[in-house]
Amino acid sequence: MIKTLLSLGCKILRDELLFKHCSFKIGGPARFFIEIPNEHALLEFLKIVSDSDRYYILGKGTNVLFSDEGYRGIIIRLIEDFRKIYVLEDKISCGGGVLISEFLKAAIKNNLTGFEYLTGIPGTVGGAVCGNAGSKDEWISTSIDSVEVYINEKKQLINRKKIRFGYRESELKKCIITRVNFSLKKTVKNDSLKKIRENMQRRLETQPLNVPSAGSVFKNPNGFFSAGELIECAGLKGKCVGCAQISELHGNFIVNKGGAIAKDVLCLIDLIKGKVKKKFNINLETEIKMIK
Ligand SMILES: Cc1cc2nc3c(=O)[nH]c(=O)nc-3n(C[C@H](O)[C@H](O)[C@H](O)COP(=O)(O)OP(=O)(O)OC[C@H]3O[C@@H](n4cnc5c(N)ncnc54)[C@H](O)[C@@H]3O)c2cc1C
Repeated sequence: MIKTLLSLGCKILRDELLFKHCSFKIGGPARFFIEIPNEHALLEFLKIVSDSDRYYILGKGTNVLFSDEGYRGIIIRLIEDFRKIYVLEDKISCGGGVLISEFLKAAIKNNLTGFEYLTGIPGTVGGAVCGNAGSKDEWISTSIDSVEVYINEKKQLINRKKIRFGYRESELKKCIITRVNFSLKKTVKNDSLKKIRENMQRRLETQPLNVPSAGSVFKNPNGFFSAGELIECAGLKGKCVGCAQISELHGNFIVNKGGAIAKDVLCLIDLIKGKVKKKFNINLETEIKMIK
């Protein structure tokens, strides 16, 4: 398998430490870490990989917590062709590996609007669509026309209307998202830039962006209550376990103060869940994906 994939331009790393590939900066080694440059190589990978091989598709790793023991399988990431963007009038087509920030740049450059709520969300288009990323009341799914996916070895172009999206989730979890086609609106450029600046300023004021984290740890219960406020009211802001800390700035962020391990983060998650349940009788559900 390795020889074939190398000949197709894949980059293959053995025992690659996963902390290097996620925003939390936490995680042990993956047996294999494979970067896939194009559809041909992806298809070959999917043909070669056997049912007993575990694999996990990673975007930029900004919404995941890897285990300290690492991942006993293959982590794959889409690069090169999957990072290409095409623009035609009010339509943008992005490969699954395109960064959200690159998508925003392309939209601004072409005077397109309707995406400003994505400002400051790190990660890739594939990751964002998989988790229906967005703000409190706007989500990426609303701007999508269609999504190109691989389900096992079968390629499909699925119309947005046929995909079920929910609050921070989609039914595309079991697919590999290779391309996303968006429909935006033409705008006056400055209006868009103003919204982007305001959104970024709000993030800088309310989120601990200068320390490693994976963004919001919990979903807002019923998509309505603020998990951050519940955690704050439970008196947990600033609480540490090892080198992981519940952010003093935003109750729903756990930050890695340097050298935190997954077990520290998991202890804090259990602590928060227990306290919030006891105080408010609310069960918090994690938004970040635990990978082991
Ligand atoms: C500082 C900070 C702020 C954040 N703010 C927000 C916010 O405001 N709103 C919000 O929604 N999120 C936010 N996040 C979380 C995160 O950035 C988003 O969820 C982002 O969309 C994840 O993209 P990613 O490429 O990093 O995905 P990853 O973390 O790599 O993966 C997340 C999930 O997507 C899947 N996935 C990734 N790529 C693909 C693909 N090509 N095909 C199929 N599945 C795929 C993975 O398997 C995994 O299940 C924030 C994170 C940080 C660190």
